[in-house]
Amino acid sequence: MKPTKLFFRLLFCTFIGNVFFMNAQQTNPECVVIENNQTDPVGTFSYSTDMETLNNCDPIVFNVKFWGIKHPDGNVYFPNRYHDALQSIANLNILYNKFGIYFKFRGYDDIQSPALPNDPDGYFVLQTTSQYSAMVSWATTNGYKDVNSLNVYAFGWAPWGGGIANMPSTTCAVNSAGLGNLITTHEISHNLYLGHTRSANEHTTRDPLNQYFNATFAGDQVVDTAANIGFYHSSCSCTLYIDPTDCTYFGTETDNSPDHKEYEIYHIDVINIMGDAYGCSEQSLTTGQAIRVREKVDTGFYDAVLTDIASLYEPYDGEYFYSSSQGSPSNYKPLFQPGFDYRFVECNCDCPLPSDYYDTSFSYTNNTLLTISKYETDYSIITHPNHSAIHIDLLSPCIASGQNTRRCYDNYNRRPKDGSITLFNDGVLNGNVTVTQKDSLGINQPTLIEDLNPGLYKVEKNYEDGEIEQDIIFKGN
Ligand SMILES: [Zn+2]
Repeated sequence: MKPTKLFFRLLFCTFIGNVFFMNAQQTNPECVVIENNQTDPVGTFSYSTDMETLNNCDPIVFNVKFWGIKHPDGNVYFPNRYHDALQSIANLNILYNKFGIYFKFRGYDDIQSPALPNDPDGYFVLQTTSQYSAMVSWATTNGYKDVNSLNVYAFGWAPWGGGIANMPSTTCAVNSAGLGNLITTHEISHNLYLGHTRSANEHTTRDPLNQYFNATFAGDQVVDTAANIGFYHSSCSCTLYIDPTDCTYFGTETDNSPDHKEYEIYHIDVINIMGDAYGCSEQSLTTGQAIRVREKVDTGFYDAVLTDIASLYEPYDGEYFYSSSQGSPSNYKPLFQPGFDYRFVECNCDCPLPSDYYDTSFSYTNNTLLTISKYETDYSIITHPNHSAIHIDLLSPCIASGQNTRRCYDNYNRRPKDGSITLFNDGVLNGNVTVTQKDSLGINQPTLIEDLNPGLYKVEKNYEDGEIEQDIIFKGN
């Protein structure tokens, strides 16, 4: 006799207001960067600003691990840090992918701040660079640093809201209140050897033949970020001469070269991710900045924290359903990181688990079972449907002609072969019903439930291995 299961599920909408737990005084987004103060070795950097130099480049994939420092009083002041860590992974990828640079989420863990009897607060709040350095060395010796990842430490309770980073390095810290916003992108960019665009001594000229040209060795040592003496003023903890409505600059400043040229500062300079017009920063990075990152990677400095492009096709959490002996398939949901445009396209192979990344022998079609935007904010829906392969729009100048559709998951134990939808016309479980039969394509449609009108339904799915799954679903308005 075939097994029959009956599940009751109620689908309804709830509005949950965003609840923020944080102390006051965390709005000041200043950044502290600890530079190594070394000049570039001759020959390491090209100072190029030309996208053409990225033709045929190798993709670069960084592992990133997140740590949330817990308050010693045991309270959870920042309950969204796991989600916010994923948000910052998305931000990093959205900014860097077009330069062939990727970031792979390697998890989030809470760690308890140790008691620090000699500290005025008694625990790590990272209000000074020396306490940040002490925290990193404590984390390193206690197993809270992944030597194969960039490490982001999310702290709280500090009297400021920004971040701290070494440059170059594989560690940074950000205030938990800002973990999901662009401050994390900014601090990791410091780790990747990008300085602030502000500089007290960088001259405005971009003509290498001009006697005052110093863009390759002053300031951020990037030629296509315009010279500026900074937008943020610590005297007022604010930006000056910037229109907050559109982030345009209206000040007049001259550089300190003998010809005292005026800075020409445009919107694009104000919003640069490494600018200090905090509050105006956007997902904006110049080609010269990206080339500088890539050339620093070429020195081998980050070798231990790099991975390969195949890792982007692996879930960061959740498991694949493999066999009906595991129980209900609905308990299995591999999750993929946000920040990419995904298309899960119909594929065919004998693949109860996804095929290996390097095996491209499966067949696939243009029929898309699930499409995810890189701006998707509901991370629970970024999963790998059965009978599909993963296409990631890598946007890269490096691998433009490669096959981006990989890892066919085609598990016939999992996939219903057909089924039906029964509508209870009176809204109660009685015999007044309308039954719609569904073929293989119909019953596997990811929007099957979403497309139903409000009402009470029974959804029946018939599996290849003989299992029949019945769900009673009340679809509200
Ligand atoms: Zn900074």
